Amino acid sequence: MKGYAMLGIGKTGWIEKTVPECGPLDALVKPLAISPCTSDVHTVWEGAIGERNDMILGHEAVGEVWKVGDMVRDFKPGDKVIIPAITPDWGKTEAQAGFSMHSGGMLAGWKFSNFKDGVFAEYFHVNEADANLALLPDGVDVASAVMLSDMVPTGFHGAELANVQYGESVCVIGIGPVGLMAVAGSALRGAGELLAVGSRPNCIEAAKQYGATGIINYRDGGIVEQVMERTGGKGVDKVIVAGGDNDTFIDAVKICRPGGIIGNVNYLGSGDYVRIPRVEWGCGMGHKTIAGGLMPGGRLRMERLVSLLKYGRLDTSLLLTHRFNGFEHAEEALMLMKDKPRDLIKPVVVI
Ligand code: NDP
Ligand code: ZN
Repeated sequence: MKGYAMLGIGKTGWIEKTVPECGPLDALVKPLAISPCTSDVHTVWEGAIGERNDMILGHEAVGEVWKVGDMVRDFKPGDKVIIPAITPDWGKTEAQAGFSMHSGGMLAGWKFSNFKDGVFAEYFHVNEADANLALLPDGVDVASAVMLSDMVPTGFHGAELANVQYGESVCVIGIGPVGLMAVAGSALRGAGELLAVGSRPNCIEAAKQYGATGIINYRDGGIVEQVMERTGGKGVDKVIVAGGDNDTFIDAVKICRPGGIIGNVNYLGSGDYVRIPRVEWGCGMGHKTIAGGLMPGGRLRMERLVSLLKYGRLDTSLLLTHRFNGFEHAEEALMLMKDKPRDLIKPVVVI
């Protein structure tokens, strides 16, 4: 089979591989729609997870089940399914403790394009199909649904980590596709004032549609100064970090009120340390919590998220600025993600 792969750090290309084996609990899936992720860019061009050779890329897909193992009960060949980016081993103790994304080790629930071949392939392997796949309901568009693999669950996880409550003030730093879903998730959870930090006009427009009540352009001045000005010097109850770099935590801590939470879903792809400003962290006593997490996977969660699309509470199509038809465009789509033209939010390849 053919796949688009990371050949080594900084190098990508098309390769041929044998079709993966299907274990008794597993499924083999053919993609119907795929999308590259900013994380693929961190992986290939920043070497964020170290060297990988001839590893097929991609972890965002909707597909059709091609084969299932003997012990799979609820899925059969021909089913249309959403494949979450994170596919835990549900029997591990970390999963039983409630942290399935870390099953088998820190971040080890992230398998596609990390420990095994990803979804930019003619066929790909899904472990524990009954626990990790979700059926795509009739009438839900495949391109919109592929945003459920990673963008929705990650952005929403930012709102969960920050534990956004009715009427709270929230600031989302970074409004690429992940941050936009953090805005949408915070609005659904009942945020009051909802500030969004970014600069691309497309993203700003989408942030407003997803519920942002104010926009902060970090290129027009400091985030801290702008947030403090809008909040009477108090800052916000909750901060969600979905963009920026290692130093973004300095701003996030400064704009967070005592008792607040900073929920991070941004992938820190380089550098050794994150710095916390001592005084604004209350000299260690400010009750400002920093929580960072990888998105949870799992069928139940995916079924709940897909119901938001099915019942019209969330429209992910606003994210899809660039659409390609045909598997051969996987390369072009990934290069767009790398180059990030200013009109890009998210590319999708429909097969
Ligand atoms: P994008 O690059 O599309 O968006 C990044 C956002 O951050 C943009 O709005 C950008 O603004 C903004 N930004 C950039 N620099 C700064 C800065 N210095 N200060 C403030 N804002 C800044 O990324 P994605 O939305 O695709 O992904 C966001 C992050 O989430 C990535 O690191 C990705 O790897 C990670 N991720 C994490 C997952 C998880 O499970 N935890 C899963 C998937 C992704 P501008 O408008 O100017 O471009
Ligand atoms: Zn991703």
